[in-house]
Amino acid sequence: MENRPEETLDPDDWSLVRDVAHEIVDDAVRHVSGVRDRRVWQEMPEAVRGSFRAPLPVEPTSLGDVYREFRETVLRYPMGNIHPRFWGWYMGAGNFTGALGDFLAAIDGSNLGGGNTAAAEIDRQVVAWLKAMTEFPDSASGTLTSGGSMANMVGLTVARNAMAGIDVRQEGVTSLPQPLRFYTSDQVHSCHQKALETLGLGSRALRLVPSDKDFRMDLSALKSAIEQDRAEGWKPACVIATAGTTNTGSIDDMQAIGDLCRREGLWFHVDGCIGALIKIAPENRHLVDGIETADSLALDPHKWLHAPFEAGCAVVRDAKRHFQTFTLHGDYLEEKPRGVASGEYLFDYGFELSRGFKALKIWLSLKEQGVAKFGRLIDQNIAQGAYLTRLIEAEPGLELMAPTAINIVCFRYRGDMTDETRLRALNTEIMLRLQEAGTAVATDTVVRGRHCLRAAINNHRTRREDLELLVGETLRLGRELEGTFPM
Ligand SMILES: *Cc1c(COP(=O)(O)O)cnc(C)c1O
Repeated sequence: MENRPEETLDPDDWSLVRDVAHEIVDDAVRHVSGVRDRRVWQEMPEAVRGSFRAPLPVEPTSLGDVYREFRETVLRYPMGNIHPRFWGWYMGAGNFTGALGDFLAAIDGSNLGGGNTAAAEIDRQVVAWLKAMTEFPDSASGTLTSGGSMANMVGLTVARNAMAGIDVRQEGVTSLPQPLRFYTSDQVHSCHQKALETLGLGSRALRLVPSDKDFRMDLSALKSAIEQDRAEGWKPACVIATAGTTNTGSIDDMQAIGDLCRREGLWFHVDGCIGALIKIAPENRHLVDGIETADSLALDPHKWLHAPFEAGCAVVRDAKRHFQTFTLHGDYLEEKPRGVASGEYLFDYGFELSRGFKALKIWLSLKEQGVAKFGRLIDQNIAQGAYLTRLIEAEPGLELMAPTAINIVCFRYRGDMTDETRLRALNTEIMLRLQEAGTAVATDTVVRGRHCLRAAINNHRTRREDLELLVGETLRLGRELEGTFPM
């Protein structure tokens, strides 16, 4: 040991690394700029899948060889969400500057748990910009998270602690004088149930309020639920409104829900993972009026800001409560008046201690493009949602399955069929064939008990002609399959 030469992960010859890095950048530009000409998605051959089961490498391989293996295997079989005809689930389409941001963040290497670094200042600045974009006051606090699920979890934790009536950090949920109840519409994202389960309140703490014909929370049903719960010994604690539901894109009436929360003394949380950033879209910003009155808000820069995964953000109006919910320092984590440990730690606002420099990819692209561009792109996607809706309504063979509120369109091939089971099987087959041909990725859902396809146009590369192709191919496949379809 004594005599063994010391080692490092740095290369012996940096010029070789530089050559591979240049090759990577050249390939990356080709990969992204040529995305429209490739299939959206393709099945990976078994040989490629098998290559990922190779045993733990003990001996070295040159960086060039490792990179080229990545290029021939991994990079050929992606999800496809950077492609102009990807509209599955609810993704972002990424952006090249954001990818450079992830690289540069790793080169800087800082841990964003805190510390007196420029990276920490950028983290604070990006949070300040997201607050400005959603019209929250400067005095509000915020934290970048891995995504929207974690951002909602941060907001709901602050809500739980604020409404507990005891010091829940000290006493724990078993000491709650009354069980807490959180209200949300039946269109809520599943992450909220998971959050309440994890927070020890149990899924029964989440009361689902019916939604109306436009899939917005029914406010009179909400009021009766609160009254009924009070009478039965629950403590109504929080209403979770959704600005852009995942299923149909519907937006709850946040003005009215905020008013009700203030009257009733309840915490007002908004899940704005999809819709919070509509605030920056000049033509549609009125759709999210009232979001700025929330006590806490979750949003997702990896959705409508197209930050490469991952980047979410929680904003809390009462910064002190936010801090009190999460602050905790080991002996080894004292803040100091000077040096690298001076300034406020960032980990005091969330669950994680070590944090990546997620802010940089957002910072770079906001500065490069300007926020006005991102606002126009949101308007563009909403206009494309309306355009696709018109195309579907104009086709007797297709059926619109929910009113289109923003950029999410629920529809199905109908043809002459009436049987729900057959319709489900046929539309599933259409969806799978579109995916397997690499033509387009749409996914499916169930709306009011009826199965349908769903296109979530959260994509800055989509053009109207892409949506025309989706309609054309859906009709073609539907007609082709309808006659021959078993059952
Ligand atoms: C996407 C989404 C989430 C979850 O966000 P992740 O970033 O995927 O964790 C929560 N709520 C809504 C409404 C969403 O659309």
